[in-house]
Amino acid sequence: MKKTQALSILLIFLLPGLPGRGEAGAEAWGFFAHQRINHLAVFALPQPLAAYFKKHIDFLTIHAVDPDKRRYAVPGEAERHFIDLDVYGDFPFDTLPRSYREARAKFLEIDLLNEQGDTSPLIAPGLYELSLGLMWFRAGALAEAERPLSWEQYLDAIDEYFISRKGDLKTPSCRQLRKIFELPSDCGCEKVLLESHLDEHGILPWHLLRAYRQLVKAFETGEQKRILKQAADIGHYIADAHVPLHTTENYNGQLSGQEGIHAFWESRLPELFSDSYDFFVGPAKYIEQPADFFWEAVFDSHRLVDSVLTEERALRQNYPAEEVYCYEERGTVQLRTTCRPYAEAYHQRLHGMVERRMRAAIHAVASIWYSAYVEAGSPVL
Ligand SMILES: [Zn+2]
Repeated sequence: MKKTQALSILLIFLLPGLPGRGEAGAEAWGFFAHQRINHLAVFALPQPLAAYFKKHIDFLTIHAVDPDKRRYAVPGEAERHFIDLDVYGDFPFDTLPRSYREARAKFLEIDLLNEQGDTSPLIAPGLYELSLGLMWFRAGALAEAERPLSWEQYLDAIDEYFISRKGDLKTPSCRQLRKIFELPSDCGCEKVLLESHLDEHGILPWHLLRAYRQLVKAFETGEQKRILKQAADIGHYIADAHVPLHTTENYNGQLSGQEGIHAFWESRLPELFSDSYDFFVGPAKYIEQPADFFWEAVFDSHRLVDSVLTEERALRQNYPAEEVYCYEERGTVQLRTTCRPYAEAYHQRLHGMVERRMRAAIHAVASIWYSAYVEAGSPVL
């Protein structure tokens, strides 16, 4: 994304009355649907895992929404819930490395700040055009010092100087940077500035793999608290991966004049209609390649983005404007929401899409819980 574009979208977020990324996604699937998905996944498990999880089904249900609750409290949490696939071109998104290590390095911007407070780009990857062959640092004032690094050398340098022991991004010193890129000592570097363009577009599929490994580890230790926490957490992220609008830059219809469609699709529709859904999803499956499985989930969601948006737009065009929004009482507050007949009409136009995505989410949660358990050696719990 270009800076100016990023800025204008940021400004849109900041305008009052429009939800920002955090808010729009804050109740992914709604708290209601997240809890229902974790709850129902327990019934798709084989024994003996089923018996163990049934004993703790209340915990798994209640804590299905914890990741959303900590979005504002924990730095680095917000980007785990989505991925804007469309900023990377079209399916199969060949420019997007499936490995987190490569993706993080590829979309890292490194700028130098000089004494006068001016910045010059050292590594300015751009989101689309960087080839995976050679990584050239672009110089500006540093042109005479250009030195190509091979992609592997660059990855190693990132690992060594840019990643903390905990695995977070850290900013190297000017001295370290001079060493990596053989910059002249008078290169005017007072401070190094880093910007991760990967984070701003979401890391959901990569985070899912990390969460999966944490669940396997938890099963290996046999610590009940850890198992249940990791299981509840990954259930949340898997469910997010099944929501089409969690895979697009236009996540709240803000780029197509459909603000509010995020909560409409993932909260309002399940709350109104999911009682009539068929939630017998069949037994959990062992997943051989969890990474591929997670990517498939977000790709499947992404294929539906177009229908989610165009069906609502088409409906609205032929609908009396004053019958789109209604006020409903929730406890003591009046809540502005889409009118029930409007929601019914949209739901019908989607031909069971919400039901299919919820079913797929439930089955995926159960399958991932089960696979992590098997991978940990099917311990006695
Ligand atoms: Zn979420």
